[in-house]
Amino acid sequence: MKLKRILAMFIVMSMLAVSFVGCTKDTGDKQGQITDGGKKEETQLEGSLITEKPTTFTIFLNFNNMPFNPEWRVWQEIAKRTNIHLEGVISQSNSNEQEAFNLMVSSGKLADIIGYVDASELEKLGRDGGILPLNDLIKEHAPHIQALLDSDERFRQTAVSLDGNIYQIPKNQNLLTAEFWWIRQDWLNKLNLKAPTTVDEVYNVLTAFRNEDPNGNGQKDEIPLFDRAGHKMPDEFLYFWDTSTEFYPRDGKMTFEPMEENFKTGVRNIVKWYKEGLIDPEIFTRGPKSRDILLSGNLGGMTHDWPSAGDYNATLPESIPNFEMVAIAPPADQHGVIKERTMRYPGVGWSISSQCKDPVTVIKFMDFFFTEEGSDLMNWGIEGETYVVNADGTKSYTDTVMKSEQTPLGYLRSLGIQYRIGMNQNPEYEYAFMTPAAKAAAELYNSHPEWFAKDVPPYLDGKLGLKYLPEDEVEYKKIMSSIRPYVDEKFQSWMLGTADFDAEYDAFIAELKARGIERAIEINQKSYDIFIGK
Ligand code: CA
Repeated sequence: MKLKRILAMFIVMSMLAVSFVGCTKDTGDKQGQITDGGKKEETQLEGSLITEKPTTFTIFLNFNNMPFNPEWRVWQEIAKRTNIHLEGVISQSNSNEQEAFNLMVSSGKLADIIGYVDASELEKLGRDGGILPLNDLIKEHAPHIQALLDSDERFRQTAVSLDGNIYQIPKNQNLLTAEFWWIRQDWLNKLNLKAPTTVDEVYNVLTAFRNEDPNGNGQKDEIPLFDRAGHKMPDEFLYFWDTSTEFYPRDGKMTFEPMEENFKTGVRNIVKWYKEGLIDPEIFTRGPKSRDILLSGNLGGMTHDWPSAGDYNATLPESIPNFEMVAIAPPADQHGVIKERTMRYPGVGWSISSQCKDPVTVIKFMDFFFTEEGSDLMNWGIEGETYVVNADGTKSYTDTVMKSEQTPLGYLRSLGIQYRIGMNQNPEYEYAFMTPAAKAAAELYNSHPEWFAKDVPPYLDGKLGLKYLPEDEVEYKKIMSSIRPYVDEKFQSWMLGTADFDAEYDAFIAELKARGIERAIEINQKSYDIFIGK
């Protein structure tokens, strides 16, 4: 029974592969004709119209369990202004994006426009012939997207697949930072200390937090340095010494950081800090609630965390007078370099399927969202309804948005604004909903692009978000499934003081090599070279 089903599926899949390839060829020919025709009529259209007559395309998109809905206010406006009307192919009751995607792919009938949560699945569909490579279409018909590809490296790197084709137009994000260094300003004030600017100053401040009773209860109960991600990512503090337990590129060369000099400096210091009680003794076990627990208990002093770490300023001063978390610049490392490792990165956007009969019109429509007008519609909505333009040229959301019964973002999304399409997310949109502390944090980090390394792939939860070639991926995962737990276990034992780092280091490196680390570096190098366009 089961075997039959697998066989049947295999046959369907093989047929699909063939049919996708067939379509690609077809569209290739048609594309040429449309290109020629398109050029003739280009200058005739008024305003933002993309086509002369209203034209409908189908779209597969389900963002946050919200299948695309043409009734959404902003999409009605977009249709009015562009003449392009989109018709969703996912039933409004569908809440399982993955299931709907697999169903569409296995049916062989693809929507004209496809957006999906997983960029690598879209790229895979592209390599199978189901999605059009957009490189030439963009070059010829989408000047605003092309300009961004040329000027914004992170956008380009996200858009370009390992085979060099662009299969999807990303949703760009302009804020650079994902996380910040946060410290208790009220504790600094109380002990008459300045915010630390170097790793040595961090050590001194944490030591003062430990010894001088900043919470004023007469007990030595402060937890100077904590991290709610510590249970899954124990090496976040290693960033102080510009190292980690992961891969990291330097000057074009991929390294595995535990094999580098900075790692030795970092681990020796972490061991010392932990032993001296500067680091949460329960870092590995306290879990994701540790930030809530340690801040509301007036125990935690410093952490590396998201903008939401600033939210406590709104509530905690009621019980902890003067409580204030502020973001500070990343402290300079042992070499005097200021660097923030965690970055935000453009997300997945949308694609054109190989079954689309008029990809030229669709790419022009997609380009509209990178114009000022299209960008305003997707970030702010409709002037006079959801936002106003202030005297100084800035924009503000109206009370309809800010005081609706939903959250401001929830309300915007209910109108189709900030949907997951290829677009440029405006940082002002994000600032509009941030608490003052979070906004100050984002503005501080965003005004220092030099703190962020160039040519580094997305660094999410401490791991490089590189894409791997299908032939390498299985081998890479196999090697790392043996290396990762080993490194985590060793690092934890050194930090907790149950094993001696310097005594074990040489044997540790030998073991990494025995488990294939050199091959893993080689695979990462290969993917990284493609990533930076070498
Ligand atoms: Ca105390």
